Amino acid sequence: MSAHDYDVLVIGAGPAGSSAATRTAAAGLRTLLVEKETFPRFRIGESLLPAGNALLREIGVWPKIEAAGFIRKHGASFHLADGSADKYVDFANGIVPGLDQTFQVERATFDTILLEHARETGAEVRTATTVRQLIADAAGEGYRATLECSGASARDGATTKISARWVIDASGRDQLFPAELKRALDPSPFPKRVAIYNHFTHVARPDGRAAGNTVIVRLADGWFWLIPIDAQRTSVGLVTTVEAMRDRRLAPADLFAEAVATSAKLRELLAGAQPVMAFHVTSDYTYFRRELASPRLLLTGDAAGFFDPIFSSGVYMACHSAKLAADLVIRAHREDRALTDRERHRYTRAIKTHAGVFQKLIAAFYDNDSFSVFMCPRPPLGLAPGITSIVAGHSRLTWSTWWRFHVFLLVCRLQHRLPMVPNLRVAQMDQTHQSPIRPLVA
Ligand SMILES: Cc1cc2nc3c(=O)[nH]c(=O)nc-3n(C[C@H](O)[C@H](O)[C@H](O)COP(=O)(O)OP(=O)(O)OC[C@H]3O[C@@H](n4cnc5c(N)ncnc54)[C@H](O)[C@@H]3O)c2cc1C
Repeated sequence: MSAHDYDVLVIGAGPAGSSAATRTAAAGLRTLLVEKETFPRFRIGESLLPAGNALLREIGVWPKIEAAGFIRKHGASFHLADGSADKYVDFANGIVPGLDQTFQVERATFDTILLEHARETGAEVRTATTVRQLIADAAGEGYRATLECSGASARDGATTKISARWVIDASGRDQLFPAELKRALDPSPFPKRVAIYNHFTHVARPDGRAAGNTVIVRLADGWFWLIPIDAQRTSVGLVTTVEAMRDRRLAPADLFAEAVATSAKLRELLAGAQPVMAFHVTSDYTYFRRELASPRLLLTGDAAGFFDPIFSSGVYMACHSAKLAADLVIRAHREDRALTDRERHRYTRAIKTHAGVFQKLIAAFYDNDSFSVFMCPRPPLGLAPGITSIVAGHSRLTWSTWWRFHVFLLVCRLQHRLPMVPNLRVAQMDQTHQSPIRPLVA
């Protein structure tokens, strides 16, 4: 083997990067994990899926997650904005065993646990360090990267060069260095959307088993999430289209407050809510890259693609793609070769097949007729347990979930012409109330 500084360079220490680095380090590969921020750092994406628990167990970090005191999540409640329809999805009622529960996490803490776990497993970790440039070796045997120190240290701005045989790009939605694979995108299946969010105190929560659940409130042209992240704070976000935001010509915090005012359910849940920081805005986050692997570089997590936060699939997909990428790297490294065309295409296909299940569920959520089917208290043909398991993250469909999912999609399509369940009046909004949300915090 040629002399490279590292076997694997992992770019970014979100869930994808830390998971991948833990796996390659545990397999004995010299792994460098580079993160541009200093941890702990704020991140959105606080609701986990039960299907991701197994991935966290596999890398040995699960006991630390369980010991961290995160809020237990047993399911999710879906509400229509005017409070006229509700649906409670309890993961324990799913058809797939072992997906009963997971956690809501403050990402600053969760990501730090994963990063420290990667370090303890043997990865070398450099934070406050940005990968600025990535150049493939002429011989195609690896990459040379330029790393730049950032932050308050005396080394701010200093650069170093390193080489690695493999690169796992887990840099999320950032585009700090040009990478060939990142140029070509799949056509987007969804309109451009924007999320406006904050953490709040004094948000109403259900009692008992459902206290830690995600609450979703569906509006005419968007929705809200409410995710409890500790005893006091709840993450609350509005998702709407970029077009609707442009039409309203309001500052993000004012648009958020206005949307709360239009919904009886939100006015009830957020009656005493106090924001604890400035509002965050993230827009245009829907994309998927066409190819996700080249002979010695793989895209994982959000660096590969992301559709929509509605079913909380982001962290699960990040950890899942990290597993597939790390497994490929470990095997090819042991055999002293690059990835074959077949391996690269299978990797891309595997990620997109998984993401495709969420994509169809997301499309059903945004379509009013399909949403009526989803919200139906007793969906026809005994579909509910299968859909519950998919909402819990079971996106690698087995026969029992596959047929239920496809019949659900068929019923959704039929609902347009031949309604099988009563249609909800999603578009009715109540514009006459004052918002309980005051945009600015003292
Ligand atoms: C509004 C919204 C709500 C969401 N809610 C949920 C949810 O409830 N549940 C869920 O599972 N998912 C949710 N997601 C998705 C979730 O945030 C992401 O899918 C998840 O964080 C992806 O993890 P990652 O490791 O791929 O990337 P990230 O978590 O984004 O981590 C990437 C890391 O790479 C670092 N980095 C970037 N560039 C460089 C560089 N050049 N050099 C070094 N480091 C670099 C960044 O600093 C960052 O720490 C949501 C997303 C949005 C937009």
